[in-house]
Amino acid sequence: MFETIVALATAPIKSALSIIRLSGDDVFDVASKCFSKDLRNIQEKTILFGSVFSEGEKIDEVVLLAYKGPKSFTGEDSVEIICHGSPLIAKQIIEACIKNGARMATNGEFSSRAYMHNKIDLVQAEAINDVINATTKEAKNLSLLSLDGKTSELVRPIKTRIADLLSLIEVNIDYPEYEDIEVANKDKVIAIVDELIPQINVLVEDGQKAKIINEGVKVALVGKPNVGKSSLLNAFLGEDRAIVTDIAGTTRDVVEGHVNIDGVVLHLYDTAGIRDSEDKIESIGIEKSKKTIKEADIVVVLLDSSNELDEEDKQILEYTKEYNPIVVYNKDDKNKSNQLSISALNNQIQPLIDVIKERIGLDEKSFSTPALNNARQLGLLSKAKESLLKAKEDALNDLTIDLISTSLFDAYTSILEILGEANQIDLAKEIFARFCVGK
Ligand code: GDP
Repeated sequence: MFETIVALATAPIKSALSIIRLSGDDVFDVASKCFSKDLRNIQEKTILFGSVFSEGEKIDEVVLLAYKGPKSFTGEDSVEIICHGSPLIAKQIIEACIKNGARMATNGEFSSRAYMHNKIDLVQAEAINDVINATTKEAKNLSLLSLDGKTSELVRPIKTRIADLLSLIEVNIDYPEYEDIEVANKDKVIAIVDELIPQINVLVEDGQKAKIINEGVKVALVGKPNVGKSSLLNAFLGEDRAIVTDIAGTTRDVVEGHVNIDGVVLHLYDTAGIRDSEDKIESIGIEKSKKTIKEADIVVVLLDSSNELDEEDKQILEYTKEYNPIVVYNKDDKNKSNQLSISALNNQIQPLIDVIKERIGLDEKSFSTPALNNARQLGLLSKAKESLLKAKEDALNDLTIDLISTSLFDAYTSILEILGEANQIDLAKEIFARFCVGK
């Protein structure tokens, strides 16, 4: 029994139109009680014009779309009421629906119904959120591919391959008398793991790129006071976001800015410097800088090409060494450097942008390749990989086939979890779907 839920699908602001969405077993009954036409006998997608009433009083004239399940977003009978775009009207219509048996939907409940009715899998459900939250055209386009089910299709062949192998092992164990069944031995396990690992590696690599397109990269700008970090941030942002002065230590806090460079958002952090300081406030800033450096995907160390490197520069280079920084010489207008050099003051920072882009490593293909892209999906994929490698190791160590299959089963579960199907595991069904055992 799926209760009828109702919610406003559009923003609660004055606009041309608003849409109220309802879904559930009794939706046509609920809607009929407050709409001027009866929907109870609807058998297919229908568009109706009429009025919504509450206790005999007309609330608004509306267009009503009735969807007969399973041909709806949620897979259930559903209704969309398109009314005039007034928050008051929308509120009254929702109240009328609630009075007649609906209840307010919780966050994401329409999508979760669609998932429960197998209209979408978990990867697609997450993609809905990604499409809504995307801040760049590129991220939105990539999420649309996931919404289309293209990302899930990447994982399904891996799922099928592991399920085939598990089924074969089960049948070998349970029905040793069947001679016409392929033998599931250790060599077979090793061969299949060797076949799947490169496929998973490609998914992980593409996934990391997609994650960058979705989330952007964190770039920490590091350098001693006065090298031009704030100026560089401003050059990136094309505005005077950071305070620029020539008094050392002015930037006390981490100042951040975000810029879209060819479809990738750079989250730039202008750090306070990392030299030891007696000043209490500056010390706090320095701690924050160290944290920012640690969390950054890319560290940019800025040096002043108009001066010799001093002890402080050397300390910074030493401190950041483990983060593989991009070292760039600023104030190139004052003194040309043979190294990677820029002039933040004159907005000549393209050489640095090029190196950052090279580090990020995206190409044209990355923007159109469907890929698993969030931490949950990629984490589970890595887990599946580990389990497969464990199965191979166990096979090489000559463990029994049923022990080996434990790790294979773990890999299978991780893949199912990516798709949100882990609660539907029914290996027996899989076995009988594949083999005509015991007909
Ligand atoms: P920060 O302390 O590292 O953030 O450095 P600022 O951005 O505040 O810059 C310190 C001083 O250097 C300011 O007077 C800037 O105008 C100057 N400056 C920054 N970048 C350049 C540059 O590329 N060329 C020249 N000539 N001066 C620069």
